[in-house]
Amino acid sequence: MSTTIPLNLHQCQCQLCQQGETHPEQGFHQQINLFMSRLDEQQRRWDAALEAKRRGHGGMKLISQITGLDVNTIRRGRQELGENLQNRPIGRVRVPGGGRKAVEKKPRITRKTSEGGN
Ligand SMILES: [Zn+2]
Repeated sequence: MSTTIPLNLHQCQCQLCQQGETHPEQGFHQQINLFMSRLDEQQRRWDAALEAKRRGHGGMKLISQITGLDVNTIRRGRQELGENLQNRPIGRVRVPGGGRKAVEKKPRITRKTSEGGN
């Protein structure tokens, strides 16, 4: 099989994938990482939390291995989901004051002075 995987994609670190043998979940693990690569930080965390929850016991550790996210990060995602994302802004993550300041454009005054005209 010669599927082209984006270079920056996280490679699954789970035991089965590490053994290098094909297993039924392999493609799915890859897809999780592919999907995650298009999410922002908080979305990644929530998706990881859901995937972990779906797997039940040991799920967090496994998802951590698959995605490379810290178990604490996934735990945080789970907590946020549990709180119905109440403190999470909708849309782009924007930390007050942390953004890039808009570049002020100084009006360029080009005044052509015609000295000594006429
Ligand atoms: Zn795997």
